[in-house]
Formats: sequence, structure tokens, C-alpha cells
Amino acid sequence: MVRFTAESYDFATFPQARNYIGGDWVAPSGERTDDVVNPRHGRAMSTVGYSTYADVDAAVKAAEAALPEWRDWPLRERAQVMYAARELMQRDLEELTWLVSHENGKTYAEAKAEVLKGIECVEFGCSLPNLAAGNSLQVSRGVNCEIVHEPLGVVAGVTPFNFPFMVPLWMMPQALVGGNAFILKPSEQVPLSAVRLAEIFAEAGLPAGLFNLVQGGQEAVEALCDHPGIHALAFVGSTRVAKIVYGRACATGKRALCLGGAKNHLIVVPDADVGVTAENVVASYTGCAGQRCMAASVMVGVGDVDHIIDAIVERSKKVVPGDNLGAITNQASVERITRYIEDAESRGAKLLIDGRGQSGGEGGYWVGPTLLDNVTPDMPAGSEEIFGPVLSIVRVDTLDQAIAIENANPYGNASAVYTTNGEVARRVMGRVSAGMCGVNVGVPVPREPFGFAGWNDSKFGHGNITGWDGFRFWTRPRKITSKWALQKDQNWMS
Ligand code: NAD
Repeated sequence: MVRFTAESYDFATFPQARNYIGGDWVAPSGERTDDVVNPRHGRAMSTVGYSTYADVDAAVKAAEAALPEWRDWPLRERAQVMYAARELMQRDLEELTWLVSHENGKTYAEAKAEVLKGIECVEFGCSLPNLAAGNSLQVSRGVNCEIVHEPLGVVAGVTPFNFPFMVPLWMMPQALVGGNAFILKPSEQVPLSAVRLAEIFAEAGLPAGLFNLVQGGQEAVEALCDHPGIHALAFVGSTRVAKIVYGRACATGKRALCLGGAKNHLIVVPDADVGVTAENVVASYTGCAGQRCMAASVMVGVGDVDHIIDAIVERSKKVVPGDNLGAITNQASVERITRYIEDAESRGAKLLIDGRGQSGGEGGYWVGPTLLDNVTPDMPAGSEEIFGPVLSIVRVDTLDQAIAIENANPYGNASAVYTTNGEVARRVMGRVSAGMCGVNVGVPVPREPFGFAGWNDSKFGHGNITGWDGFRFWTRPRKITSKWALQKDQNWMS
């Protein structure tokens, strides 16, 4: 077993991230190998290989071999693996927290929150025996209909760099307890937490072959889309790739659910509580260095909200790179974020706080909190996903204008309103075009068991990825109609 020994931000290494197939660690067969870079230090802490179709095929074969016995386990017994995994994750909480922080660059507190949220997803898996009982009804004399949730078989998940531990756990508990075998392709930028997940589930008693790990990038994802032995695929990442993966997976007849990027709008009206709003808005746009799909990206200020913006500026000054602001994932992202700021400034936006050039320590990739005022929705900073600690402030006169701006954006992950007026909250909640909405909550992540997913260009496919919808995604309902007694009274169901 590989253990991560770091107990601080001090640089530490981790062994090479390999594939886990049928219970064995094996090297991916592709020729390419990349460094896994700790964004806080800008140094390679590990390496990762790239998988090919042959590696995916080996994972499918291992999964198919393990499935017949697993399907025979009662769901309640399959859920026991989740109980055991949960205990192991609690045991290793500190280690997992530091691993997430090192491979992703987020702060210790953010990494711990991620691991705890991942554990919450496992707990949902523990609860499935109490939820998955199905339905049964006597539909006519002596005739019963029942629904049972059957596994799909071998299924797969593809995950992004920004939540290396939690996002795989959006998928795995429901898929596995549902009786499937799961293949995970984590982001090549953060493949290490997935290595620990494989070890934890093995230690928890999951039989070999039911959780397989294939490392790599586009080629591995395309193989997962194309492989006829895989029956469902979930994806979380950018909208550009989500669209491609959704189309490719569906083209082979797979069930697919692909979550994409975001441009989340927060609407702030003058009656909003200044302290709550300032704290919340800043936490939303700077948390995880803005690298989360639920981050505030545009604040639409309705009327005179200068007093609230002043408080947001003051609060933002307390967010310090390297201290309570984590690193940006890589140099290319720093340059992308910087380009958005420069472009907005050249188009007339006013920089209230400029995070360019700020550093959180020696080496690493950093951008400080950045507030852009007088942004308009036609500017790239006002309409495109920046994925950094940047908030674009758009000014409007009326609530209807604010809602229209939110509605016109093609994304639809999250939206929030800050107000102390119930009628304003009700109007906004009823009219914004987003799947996850908040009233005085800037990161309105639906906690378990409420399902996670956005709308519009933030999601391709149907339903939510977490909660009960997740279980339905990874299973298919079988309807069984039974008649045991020989009935004299014949009817149309006889
Ligand atoms: P990404 O789309 O670049 O990568 C996601 C996954 O797709 C990775 O595993 C990667 O290896 C793979 N991939 C990359 N290019 C591919 C291609 N051309 N074909 C097939 N597979 C490919 O995303 P990222 O940069 O890792 O993550 C950040 C993005 O994810 C942001 O847009 C963010 O909003 C989004 N995200 C969305 C949610 C959500 O729930 N909607 C959650 C987390 C992150």
C-alpha cells in the first residue's frame, strides 16, 4: 500500500500513478508519461502514464470476470463495502487531505472539506439498502407487479482536475452498490487520490476487478466511449469536452451523463445584508482559487450596491495567496486568467483589486483575488468561464435586467440571489436558468441526498449525478409480473 507522508505544505513525492486492473497495479501501455506537478511548488511530485484502448479493454475484461459473483451479492451486502470504506477514509482523513492539497494545490481546509464531502457521498451509498427497495403492487387478482433495480454491467467515469477525491465519489457508491463494475479515468493532472481510492476500496473488501483505474487522457476517454463492453459513462469536466464525450458515448448506444463548465451569476440587491453578502460572495469567488464549477463568476449588482461592493473589496483584501488562497493548477491557467483580466481592462472594466503577479511562495502558480467592476456581458470576462479567483461585476438598474443577463448566458450550473426580501428571492429563484440555486448562499451545492447537476450547457444528459438520480443512472428498472395461484377468474393479464 502506498501512503502519503506529508503533514504540511512542504514538498513531498508520491510513487508513479499506475493503472489498477483486476486487483493488480500495472503500467499503462501508452508511450507518453507526464509529470504530476504540485501547483503550490511548481515541482513534479510524481509521474503518470497514458492508457490506450488495450488498457481499457483489459479493464473491461477484468470487470466482466468479476461481475457475475458481485451481482449475486444482495445489495445490502454490497453496501457493507461502503460502510468499511467510510471508516477507512475517516481513519486516513489527514493523509487524504494532504494528498488532495498537494496534487491539486488547494488549501488544507479546502482539501479537508473535499474529503469530507466525498465521505458524505459514500454515506449515501451506505443508505441505499434503505432506499432501493423498489415497488410492488397487486395489480389484479393474484397478479403482482414489482420493480427491481438491475445493474447495467461494466460502467465508467471520467473526472476533472479540481476535485480529485470527491468527484469520483459522486459516481462510485451508487454504481457499485447498484451491482456494477466501475472503471475510473481520473484527470492526468491529479491521478494520485484515485490511487488511494483503489487501495481503500480493496482494503474495504471490494472484490478485485470491480474497481479499475485507467490513467491517461483523451485516448483513454475515447476508448471508454467506444468500447462496446461499457454500458454507461459519466463525465465531469469542461463544456467543450463534455459535449464531445456525450456525443461519442451516445453514438455507441451508451447511457451518458456529462457535466460541463459554468459561469455562475450572483444577483445582489441593495437590501442585502452587507456582512453576510460580502463574506459569502468572496468565499464563493476565491474558494478553491475560483477553480470550481460552483464558483461565483459574475456579480450582477442591481441599483446602488456600492456599500456592498466596498465591503467585498475589504473582505477580498484578507484573502492571501499561499495562506487562505490556494494555487492555480498550472502556468497555462495562470496565463489564461491573466488574459481575461487584461482583456476586460482594455475594454473599459475597472480593476478594484488586481491579483496579477501575486505569489503564494517560491515557485508555484498563483493569481490573487481580482475584482473587475463595470464589466458588460459582451466582454469575455462577463460571459466565459475564467476558472480563477476573478469576479466580474456587472451593473444594472432593475431586477428584470439582472435576470435577463443571467438567462442569456449559455451555462446553467449555479445562480444565487442576495436579499433580505422574500419576494425578491422568490422572483429570482423562479426565473433564473440554473439547476442549483442559492438564496444568500454563494456556493449552493445540494448536499446529499439532493442531486448535483446544472442545466443548459453545464450538463448533457438527463438527471443528477449524485443522490437517488445517480442510482437510477447506474441501474435499469426491471418490471416483473408474477402470478402463482391458478386463478379461475381469467382477465386480460392472465
Ligand atoms: P477537462 O474537460 O479538460 O478534463 C476533464 C477530463 O476529460 C479529464 O479526465 C481529461 O483527461 C479528459 N479530457 C480532456 N480533453 C479531452 C478530450 N479532448 N477528449 C476526451 N477526454 C478529454 O476539464 P478540467 O480542466 O480537468 O476541469 C475543469 C472543468 O471542469 C471546468 O470547466 C469546470 O467547470 C468543470 N467542472 C464541472 C463540474 C460540474 O459538476 N459541472 C464539476 C467539476 C468541474
